[in-house]
Amino acid sequence: MSIQVFGVPVSRGVAIGRAVLVASSRVDVAHYFVAPQDLGSEVQRLKAARDAVAEELSSLQRELPEDAPAELSALLDVHLMLLHDDALAGATKDWILERHYNAEWALSAQLEVLARQFDEMEDAYLRERKADLEQVVERLLKALASSSDAAHTDVAVPRDSAGEDPLVLVASDIAPADMLQFKSSIFTGFITDVGGRTSHTAIVARSLDIPAVVGAREASRIIRQDDWVVIDGDAGVAVVNPSAIVLEEYRFRQRQSDLERARLDRLRHTPAVTLDGHCVELLANIELPGDAHGALAAGAVGVGLFRSEFLFMNRDGDLPGEEEQFRAYLAAVTAMQGLPVTIRTVDIGADKPLDQMSAQELRHEHTLNPALGLRAIRWSLSEADMFHQQLRAILRASAFGKVRILIPMVAHLTEIRACALAIKRARAELDRMGLAYGMAEVGAMIEVPAAAIGIDMILRHFDFVSLGTNDLIQYTLAIDRADEAVAHLYDAWHPSVLNLVDRTISRANAAGRYVSVCGEMAGDPAFTEVLLAMGLRSFSMHPAQIATIKQKILRTDTTRWVRRLPDILSAEDPQAQAFPA
Ligand code: PEP
Ligand code: MG
Repeated sequence: MSIQVFGVPVSRGVAIGRAVLVASSRVDVAHYFVAPQDLGSEVQRLKAARDAVAEELSSLQRELPEDAPAELSALLDVHLMLLHDDALAGATKDWILERHYNAEWALSAQLEVLARQFDEMEDAYLRERKADLEQVVERLLKALASSSDAAHTDVAVPRDSAGEDPLVLVASDIAPADMLQFKSSIFTGFITDVGGRTSHTAIVARSLDIPAVVGAREASRIIRQDDWVVIDGDAGVAVVNPSAIVLEEYRFRQRQSDLERARLDRLRHTPAVTLDGHCVELLANIELPGDAHGALAAGAVGVGLFRSEFLFMNRDGDLPGEEEQFRAYLAAVTAMQGLPVTIRTVDIGADKPLDQMSAQELRHEHTLNPALGLRAIRWSLSEADMFHQQLRAILRASAFGKVRILIPMVAHLTEIRACALAIKRARAELDRMGLAYGMAEVGAMIEVPAAAIGIDMILRHFDFVSLGTNDLIQYTLAIDRADEAVAHLYDAWHPSVLNLVDRTISRANAAGRYVSVCGEMAGDPAFTEVLLAMGLRSFSMHPAQIATIKQKILRTDTTRWVRRLPDILSAEDPQAQAFPA
């Protein structure tokens, strides 16, 4: 029977494929297809892992001290029984032989199937055996890791090499850093239970340019492994096991949207100029240096936001040093071929923890509300050594191209002074070491209401500003951007938000300072005319959005919208005022 699951639309288009359910903790398990001639050896690899775990469990049992509680031995018996049970062993083998999944993927796929059966059991004792099953699978995954082919340690397998049904990813939650792994992966769409439209997971999803829905609450419970799923990234809905008629309708829409994209693609190298002759700069937001090539190909005239924190995530505390960072920034600068690259200093914290460990700490121990806690520049200033290394690396890269430094979440004069001092020191250190550096401009992100209200003070201290509307909305409306429960209140059209954006742009223009918007608002065509009317001439967004926004700009007469702007800004419902029904 066909079921609909509703969520928050984050990335446009329609994906149709078979569901791959992945537990949030196992998103990093390798997913790839095994070539038909290698299926036998993949089954052997699974069997070898099973034999190794059986030996491990038996030796644990043999070595139990005499006085060990009887339950311990019984528990190991249960684990051995689960290990050999056909529901795990046999069915995992079937995923390999029938669907050509690699052993780790087959195992985690089958674990999801069985975990659900355990969840549905009436008997509490049996229900609790799910944890035992998970432990057994963990041991198997560890054993497989030691035999894994180095060429297949991540999920980055080209989609078209699969030669199988298309696949869509279904997970309760995916951390932003894990989401990065899915760049050029085998998945053609995905859906998660949690998240809001501008959560960092959603932002990375959008940069992958595949249809996606987040905040679908029950999705990972309702959708079953291998179900056929349509993901409608425009409407924010997933249809599970659609009827033939519904499927045909979605296939039609898929073809239409492919045609539309091909048409927009032709605008790639057309300059973005409004009908009344204003030139507009369209820049790219990137997460990793490798994204710069895509930015250039999409027609970006620079990088408006390089979220450098993605270089710092999922490294188990082993943060990148100055040399590693320098090479990463240099790669982005070189790839952009002389175009400007704006590198934001790390914005760790809130929904972007450094790794799983600190995510748990943030949730359970130290921080009551991570979005209001030690995040972004606050964290950098508390980690002086790390901050200096990053500043030196950016300054060194700026000797090779036009680099701008962008400081996230600035609000206080003390922070501004501390940043200026840190940059001065970093330059002095480079002088001492005899290392070359450029004179990078330094800008502030305007993403805390205090910074937008106090913009005149900020403008006196920085060369440029960039509006982080994602956070500006979050902090102005007191809405956690990653919380789907309040996603309906996250409203970029709120009059207070629009007035803060307008204030920042007009004050920066009046002061003769460069201003851009690098939050998601810049890539949302609903806001293009209003932002142009406010005087914005620099928009930074995911490369996939550039052609859409360019088309909007080419069709806009700014003069007409400038006349309408005061009414829009003073309206109780600015959206209705801007676009009357
Ligand atoms: C923003 O807040 O709008 C922004 C661009 O930064 P991030 O989304 O990474 O917080
Ligand atoms: Mg931000």
